[in-house]
Amino acid sequence: MRGGGGDATVTSPVDWSDEGDEPPSGEHARRRALGDLRTLYRLADEAYRPYRCPAAAECCQLATTGREPWLWPVEWKLLLQAAGGRAPPARADGGCPFLDAAGARCSVYAERPFGCRTFFCHRARGPRREPLERMAALSRRLEALARMHDPDADAPRPLRAWHSGAVP
Ligand code: SF4
Repeated sequence: MRGGGGDATVTSPVDWSDEGDEPPSGEHARRRALGDLRTLYRLADEAYRPYRCPAAAECCQLATTGREPWLWPVEWKLLLQAAGGRAPPARADGGCPFLDAAGARCSVYAERPFGCRTFFCHRARGPRREPLERMAALSRRLEALARMHDPDADAPRPLRAWHSGAVP
């Protein structure tokens, strides 16, 4: 729920059961991975649809909060693509580099990582019980997706670690 409000419609769950043993490769595989990831993101959005927050992007002030999303490689690829293929410069205030210039909105909101969609701020309002089981299941599916499309994927990394490795 980081980065402001949003909306998404779920069409179908992701199913990787027909992938076989060999990891897919090439441009087609890359596009398929990003498509699968978007579908998974829509499912996370759907689970959190009943919740609302002030959409002030306070949770995107990563240095201030000391908390940040962790991304699998496929998530970082999608984020970079959404940013036009290049990592934006770091922000002087320690906020997420993907914030807009004013630091008020996520500039890549539609493609923001799983951790940004499931981050639960104390200012959020909605049903008392969070959809934790659904999120745990989606988290497992995200790991499966990440490993399927990148067999060398070791573990997710903090957003700022990805970013610092991408900017000169
Ligand atoms: S990618 Fe950055 S700016 Fe966007 S929602 Fe996540 S933490 Fe906020």
